[in-house]
Amino acid sequence: TTVLGIEASCDETAASVVSLDANGVPAIRSNAVLSQIADHAAFGGVVPEIAARAHVEALDGIIGTAMREAGATRDGIDAIAVTAGPGLIGGLIAGLMTAKALAAAWGKPLIPVSHLEGHALTARLTGQAEFPFLLLLVSGGHTQIVRVAGVGDYQRWGTTIDDALGEAFDKTAKLLGLPYPGGPEVEKAAATGDASRFALPRPLRGEARPDFSFSGLKTAVRQAATAIAPLSGQDVADICASFQRAICETLADRVARSLGRFRTEYPGVDEPVLVVAGGVAANRAVRATLESLCADQGFRFAAPPMALCTDNAAMIAWAGLERLRAGLTDETAMDVAPRSRWPLDEGSAPVFGAGK
Ligand code: ATP
Ligand code: MG
Ligand code: FE
Repeated sequence: TTVLGIEASCDETAASVVSLDANGVPAIRSNAVLSQIADHAAFGGVVPEIAARAHVEALDGIIGTAMREAGATRDGIDAIAVTAGPGLIGGLIAGLMTAKALAAAWGKPLIPVSHLEGHALTARLTGQAEFPFLLLLVSGGHTQIVRVAGVGDYQRWGTTIDDALGEAFDKTAKLLGLPYPGGPEVEKAAATGDASRFALPRPLRGEARPDFSFSGLKTAVRQAATAIAPLSGQDVADICASFQRAICETLADRVARSLGRFRTEYPGVDEPVLVVAGGVAANRAVRATLESLCADQGFRFAAPPMALCTDNAAMIAWAGLERLRAGLTDETAMDVAPRSRWPLDEGSAPVFGAGK
């Protein structure tokens, strides 16, 4: 079975062909990603209108690239999976309309997929996780801890009460004068910094609720930076290192709550798994922290390769394959509307005219 995946929910235009062989072993046959970073860099963040236009211009080409690199023809494609939400509405419309047009022209089924489901199931594309598992989703727009029991079977246990973790990285980078996107820049600067120089808060530490909070941390960074401005290169590195350490210690404390709950709810699972996914999962310090937390708590830690953590279409094609295999597809797909907000635990995409 072979699925073409299309992703245009934020600032990456992406297409990918993923196949599943008769033994159920997946293969990424192509994974084409066109980043719009250069288009948005001058504005210090993603500009929705620019993103939408860039997706419209790039989609046809990137799909052609993915098909060519996979050596695939339309006859070899069994279904077309596309991100239907959540994300920036202009890009979602561009991606979904392109996928619908292809599905109609090629006579293939369309599978609308949640971008978050793509992140959530990536560790299964790489053979790193069986159901059920615990998922820490840390991306530009989301920070959630989710119990994943099957395809489409998600229960959110914790979420951020303010900023997403990726957003905290990006805002911190911006106020330190580092370029967008900030996450990788903060990680780079932190490598040569002194993590003990600044005393930053560990939001919600020790609280029973399994949620996250990052806006106070960002404010504390601003105050620390203002107090010693103008900043030298070493000051920036020290702030980044202190910030990253605060993030890691906060994550370890917050996630530990849910590891305990998972054990209680699934006593029969011998080797429970924590999967980390989303763009911030590319951060090495975050990975190392979660890995040692898991080692302490008797969990296996699973993190997809870096290139599959940040946005891509292989994860969308894969989510489509998982849905196809689970029989979770139907003919209403061609009537699905894009959804800018779409919580992972809320089920399928809504259909036009379905009374919504
Ligand atoms: P969502 O998936 O919630 O819809 P998104 O698709 O924009 O949002 P991703 O592309 O999954 O988010 O992740 C992008 C985020 O990951 C950005 O905030 C970026 O700064 C962050 N990020 C990427 N690499 C790193 C890194 N090495 N360290 C920290 N953060 C990182
Ligand atoms: Mg992105
Ligand atoms: Fe994402």
